[in-house]
Amino acid sequence: TVRTRFAPSPTGFIHLGNIRSALYPWAFARSQQGDFILRIEDTDVERSSQAAVDVIIEGMAWLGLDHDEGPFYQMQRMDRYKEVLAQLKASGQVYPCYMSVEELDKLRERQMAAKEKPRYDGTWRPEPGKTLPQVPQGVQPVLRFKNPTGGVVAWEDKVKGRIEISNDELDDLVIARPDGTPTYNFCVVVDDIDMRITHVIRGDDHVNNTPRQINIFRALGVEPPVYAHLPTVLQEVTDADGTVRVEKMSKRHGAKPVTQYRDEGFLPDAMVNYLARLGWSHGDDEIFSREQFIEWFNLDHLGRSAAQFDEAKLRWVNAQHMKAMDDRELASLVAAQLDRRGMEGDRRLPGICALFKDRCDTTVALADWAAKYYGPVKRDPEEVAKHVTDGVRPAVSMLAKMLEGVEWEKAAISEAIKEVLRATGLKMPQLAMPVRVLVMGTAQTPSLDAVIALCDRKTVLERLAAA
Ligand code: GLU
Repeated sequence: TVRTRFAPSPTGFIHLGNIRSALYPWAFARSQQGDFILRIEDTDVERSSQAAVDVIIEGMAWLGLDHDEGPFYQMQRMDRYKEVLAQLKASGQVYPCYMSVEELDKLRERQMAAKEKPRYDGTWRPEPGKTLPQVPQGVQPVLRFKNPTGGVVAWEDKVKGRIEISNDELDDLVIARPDGTPTYNFCVVVDDIDMRITHVIRGDDHVNNTPRQINIFRALGVEPPVYAHLPTVLQEVTDADGTVRVEKMSKRHGAKPVTQYRDEGFLPDAMVNYLARLGWSHGDDEIFSREQFIEWFNLDHLGRSAAQFDEAKLRWVNAQHMKAMDDRELASLVAAQLDRRGMEGDRRLPGICALFKDRCDTTVALADWAAKYYGPVKRDPEEVAKHVTDGVRPAVSMLAKMLEGVEWEKAAISEAIKEVLRATGLKMPQLAMPVRVLVMGTAQTPSLDAVIALCDRKTVLERLAAA
């Protein structure tokens, strides 16, 4: 069975660029009835934080990227790494290296001066017939991996095609520090083996690690998984002087934590839809459901070039999903937004969603409308002055009088409005605009009878009385 994983480092709050590296392996596992594993790569203790882990877990749960196993934490697997390290030691595939930092620096300087690529020169690598230097006193060595010499490491990348690296370009990687703690590339390989990962789908910032990881796989007698390296997600960045550049998406450039999109009123299905298209395509299909995405997803249509994040496009996708969504379901999301404002919705909320959702691109915007029903109305004084003129005040009072007695439903309310128009000779907009401003705080609303019918009589009369 297919087994994929998402292996984030909790060193910052994950943003949309990061979460896309979770979406594809998740979708691939789901499409193949496989397993999706969550692994937290928290070995950089200094820079890792629980808050960052929380955003990963919460963000994935919110987006519905459910995992079958994990979360596993690398810090809890140290004993296992040390065990495998001992195995490599026993089979002579690692060796202690006593080269000091100063010596390494000197070596690097010499290589740079000779215009060579800086690399470890194999001083401490044991070879038949070679005499190793004298082991210095009181120095704890690092352990280096005996990279194969000669030949190439090659793989068929599902995104980038065939990649081939000559072994001579790879020096002997440090896989354990002087204190015995294993290093990054080694932990990843041990995990991918133990977790029986079949497909590694990750950002292409890891392409350079892959040949090293493949060599470690082989040293451990395991065939490496299939690799798919995803191109970067780009974003527009505006400098202090106003110049606009396109950069790799990063927290440093203001990328928001993924959970912030929940708070800003985006729907999980819309996020999945938008992110899916950011580096993968299914013909010209722009709007699709989670189920369709899983059904259609495969590794063959991953894009080769970097995609650029576009918030306006995301808003448009979100609006499409809101329109298509069942009003009761939408109401429960809007209720959560109202709750954040200390307001409570009621059974009118699905109707409010139905009436206003066409003019909103987030549930926050929809909650702004709903708040006019469940909280006080805020009116723009300029709009009031413009529309609520002395000329219409008598008509507004007349309407208020009529609304006192009508049956509270749309058709009767509509009839009352028409009667006032007949009696006063006003045109619909001349009456509707001031009434909208008084009741909803703005003259731009859907049809007046529908807007009023969703409000209760007492509130409408109070708001009209403000005229
Ligand atoms: N922990 C790595 C990162 O956050 C991902 C490693 C991998 O997927 O192999 O970039």
